[in-house]
Amino acid sequence: MKTFDFIIIGGGVIGCTIARSLSRYKLSILLVEKESDIGMVTSSANSALVHAGYDAVAGSLKAKMNVAASPMWDTFAGELNIPFRRCGDFVVAVDEKEVQKLEELLTRGKKNGVPGLKIVTGDELKAKEPLVNPNATAALWAPTGGICDPFAATLAAGENAVMNGVQIALNTTFESFITENGRIIGVHTNRGDFSGRWVVNAAGLQSDAVMHKAGVRPEFKITPRRGEYFIVDREEMKINSVLFPVPSDVSKGILVTATMHENTLIGPNAQNIDDKEDKSITAKGMDEIWNGAKKLVPSVNQRSIIASYAGLRAGGNAPCADSSVDYTGDFVIEIPETVMGLVNLGGIESPGLSAAPAIGQYVVELLKDHGEQLIEKADYQPIRPARPRFRHMSMDERKEMIQRDARYGRVICRCEMVTEGEIVAEIHSPIPATTYDAIKRRTWLGTGRCQGGFDMPLVVEILARELGKSPLEITKKGEGSEYLYRKTKTVEGQPA
Ligand SMILES: Cc1cc2nc3c(=O)[nH]c(=O)nc-3n(C[C@H](O)[C@H](O)[C@H](O)COP(=O)(O)OP(=O)(O)OC[C@H]3O[C@@H](n4cnc5c(N)ncnc54)[C@H](O)[C@@H]3O)c2cc1C
Repeated sequence: MKTFDFIIIGGGVIGCTIARSLSRYKLSILLVEKESDIGMVTSSANSALVHAGYDAVAGSLKAKMNVAASPMWDTFAGELNIPFRRCGDFVVAVDEKEVQKLEELLTRGKKNGVPGLKIVTGDELKAKEPLVNPNATAALWAPTGGICDPFAATLAAGENAVMNGVQIALNTTFESFITENGRIIGVHTNRGDFSGRWVVNAAGLQSDAVMHKAGVRPEFKITPRRGEYFIVDREEMKINSVLFPVPSDVSKGILVTATMHENTLIGPNAQNIDDKEDKSITAKGMDEIWNGAKKLVPSVNQRSIIASYAGLRAGGNAPCADSSVDYTGDFVIEIPETVMGLVNLGGIESPGLSAAPAIGQYVVELLKDHGEQLIEKADYQPIRPARPRFRHMSMDERKEMIQRDARYGRVICRCEMVTEGEIVAEIHSPIPATTYDAIKRRTWLGTGRCQGGFDMPLVVEILARELGKSPLEITKKGEGSEYLYRKTKTVEGQPA
């Protein structure tokens, strides 16, 4: 049986960031992920916002982690070379009742320690966001709010962990714990057993099932809360920051936001469902998003929508970590007393992405408090270099790149201008992209007007060639999603 100091269950932004934080120390670490790639579940289907921290209930772990993480994002994104922009956000009020709610948010934000918050007039808002509803009377302005690419954050944290010695096992599902005398000493997976002194539960939507297998918090339950979105063509509409409506009790509401890919994003709604895999888009949901978006930006045009998707929030039912605060639904981040060897996380819904850098650090502190001797590596490398992106290069840089490697001169995705060179680089990267969707998440290929209609066959061909596989084996997102059923033609003079 292979032996590690730490086994992390789950390769979302939380598991990957914890892996990165731990990889600073002299430890052997394995991360197991059940899917064919990291970041395939909630960490790639959300609003991509780095929240300022005024929304989370004061005194909750959610608020503490969010507010601690917000200033960390400049270094986190800088070291990992990932897209991040502190564009600020507005909560937009369209009537007097809503203005009162802004005051409540301002008070809460100040209590949470969010810097720079202020209420601005409708005119100040319109000067920064000309497309906003002309009836907007005031807004809460949070200059520290930002936007990022959530999958890029997950991938880069994971890659940096790998650079620092972490092993990642994809297609590997945690099944149960191996225990001895009340202590967890390893895990059973579909790919064999692994022993570990510590196991970290970062299984997102499945975190309740994982902790129950260790006998921890039997009453804890994750309720999936689906949020649906529209993506707007980048040529059709420009929002400079993030526009929130005044929030409800269950969600921050349907927002209209800029993204790091220059599209505008609209959504999400919030529906509690039973199925932890149901990411379907519903007609009712689309209407709801549409009406929500129109309230903020009345000129938004249905014809400019190019894609839709849904994500599932892992809503938990844990009482607030601070028992004096009357709030249910807080993050769980703990080393439980009832079983040894478990770092237990659960209910990491929004603002989990924003909070990720602080959560990684918090887990390290928890371990130190529990007597774990963490010795820093002399050769820890916090910098993860970015790979070249043809679309963002100047003409001179492009020429130079093509001279060095002619594959950068072959454009595979015309809408997003992604080249063969970039695709090949992703296939041979520290966490190799082995499916079409894995290439898409990394390069943004197939996300433009044609939605992959042109590039897909070419990508299948490149994946087959680089992985030494038959095109029949190439999948969209892992086993069972093969594109091709059988060969239908042969070319004269070429092998059948
Ligand atoms: C609609 C929506 C909007 C959101 N917007 C924002 C936002 O703007 N800003 C923000 O800060 N947060 C936002 N969030 C929350 C944020 O996306 C999450 O907090 C974050 O992605 C959670 O990361 P995670 O790693 O815990 O979960 P995941 O990304 O789901 O990762 C968990 C991983 O565990 C794996 N796994 C599960 N079971 C097993 C097993 N048995 N064996 C092996 N692997 C397993 C899964 O396959 C998955 O990859 C939003 C969420 C949603 C759904």
